Amino acid sequence: MKFKRLRLIGFKSFVEPTDFVIEPGLTGVVGPNGCGKSNLVEALRWVMGEASHKAMRAADMNDVIFSGNQKRPARNTAEVSILIDNGSRTAPAQFNGDDTLEVSRRIEREQGSLYRVNGREVRARDVQILFADASSGSRSPALVHQGRIGEIIQAKPEQRRRVLEEAAGISGLHARRHEAELR
Ligand code: ATP
Ligand code: MG
Repeated sequence: MKFKRLRLIGFKSFVEPTDFVIEPGLTGVVGPNGCGKSNLVEALRWVMGEASHKAMRAADMNDVIFSGNQKRPARNTAEVSILIDNGSRTAPAQFNGDDTLEVSRRIEREQGSLYRVNGREVRARDVQILFADASSGSRSPALVHQGRIGEIIQAKPEQRRRVLEEAAGISGLHARRHEAELR
């Protein structure tokens, strides 16, 4: 699975619809302080199903919605979508019928989030499993935040094992087992 495009609408400082085209190879994002680089990475984690507002540097999940400035009023919705190339057909069975998958998450102020895959409404859990299987996901070691290297060095063996399991590509199995146990 390859990411092809990230689209932000009303998410944090990205009030106007903004597309980031992700070409094959290495992509760099550069810009002055406060231009939205971290917001962009947070958008990626958010659409993958991040449930913690703290991970979004927000006091509350509604705070990911554009909060207005001197020139523009606040918005009531935010939406992030990611276009995925599934040509390798490695998505979970329920999504594996299509060559491209568009995963979107939309939040309406005080109404919570709604997830869709190719226009069809799905649960947050389905989206989280989709990305966990791809060794990605909002908590994936593929996303290294500031201070993370130090955390791994100081982590307890159990926590460090999770990082190794993610690298081994078995996190999706854990997520499924957890779900099966809840049923
Ligand atoms: P640095 O180089 O300092 O790390 P950065 O490019 O990572 O900067 P971000 O932290 O992504 O910058 O962006 C911060 C900006 O986003 C601030 O100007 C902040 O006001 C704005 N911002 C954050 N949340 C919202 C929101 N809900 N509505 C509008 N603007 C927001
Ligand atoms: Mg930053």
